[in-house]
Amino acid sequence: MSDQSINQLDTTPVVLLIDDSQFVHRILDARLRSESISLIGEHDGKAGHERALKDEPSLILLDLDMPVMDGYETLRVLKDDPKTRDIPVIVLSGMDSSQDKVAVFDLGAVDFITKPFEITELRARVRSSLKLSALLKMLAQKAQIDGLSGLFNRVYFDDRLQEEYDRAVRHGHPLSISMIDLDHFKSVNDTYGHPAGDTVISGVAQIIQQQCRSIDIACRYGGEEFVMIMPETTPEQAKILCDRIRQSCEAVSWSQHPSRAVTLSCGVVGADNGEGLTCTPAAMLEMADRNLYEAKQSGRNRVKATDIGGTLIQIAKAG
Ligand code: GH3
Ligand code: MG
Ligand code: MG
Repeated sequence: MSDQSINQLDTTPVVLLIDDSQFVHRILDARLRSESISLIGEHDGKAGHERALKDEPSLILLDLDMPVMDGYETLRVLKDDPKTRDIPVIVLSGMDSSQDKVAVFDLGAVDFITKPFEITELRARVRSSLKLSALLKMLAQKAQIDGLSGLFNRVYFDDRLQEEYDRAVRHGHPLSISMIDLDHFKSVNDTYGHPAGDTVISGVAQIIQQQCRSIDIACRYGGEEFVMIMPETTPEQAKILCDRIRQSCEAVSWSQHPSRAVTLSCGVVGADNGEGLTCTPAAMLEMADRNLYEAKQSGRNRVKATDIGGTLIQIAKAG
């Protein structure tokens, strides 16, 4: 789950200093050494932006008065680029008029420190910005994760479906999606209680996660329904993967009800290449839902897969 790692919370945060003064680099290098950060540096705005793209620092310390591209312009470039937009920037400057401060805050800086700086204050401000940005990152990540299953949630699914769809169309690659719903789940709740039902939901989420490759995107769509986006996957391959999930689920002996197996039904839809993606992502989802409905109607505990034209996918037998 590469997308899900909280990367900068448990590693040493990288702080990028962009300042044309060698003296400032030397002094910060010496005085921030005792902080648990890794300080990297650049001497002009253009190189600073490139370094930020490459090293993804947790915080940028930015001088305003620099030749070629000054701090204002650098801040504008950093905030215009979606890849660097969310990195907090503390401005270090000898200019300390209210006008200067208002201008940099308006451009998106989180803090302003007047040079010559008091090192204890600088350290405290660096620490507090890092703490805040780590918390914001964690919140943003939690907003994408479903609490019970640990899978991505529906909001994340909607964004990623559009993104993967566009990518598949652009590159002419295959794309499949699936919708999974637990069978007769109401009766699991009614018979063994809601907590036992919750255990099943998180257990099935684990099975889905185990069977997926790292590029697949597994989400809890709501209740006892899951959806998967399978980039680079033909509907036939998706059907095989979903059938493996179906079999694994059926084979589980649940500790709270060992004699009661839980099964699932699944609808798959996809295209072998980008040219086959002739409908919108929303229409694709409706087709997956229709296939799921038909899997239920025809007896449950099965996977129904079609291409976008509605042609039934049969799994080719080897040999
Ligand atoms: P079908 O095979 O047709 O899908 O039957 P079903 O009983 O699974 O379908 P139905 O939609 O009638 O019931 C879904 C049940 O899922 C009802 C609801 O109580 C339960 N459910 C939804 N969300 C949760 C949850 O977070 N935890 C638990 N334990 N149960 C949930
Ligand atoms: Mg349901
Ligand atoms: Mg159900």
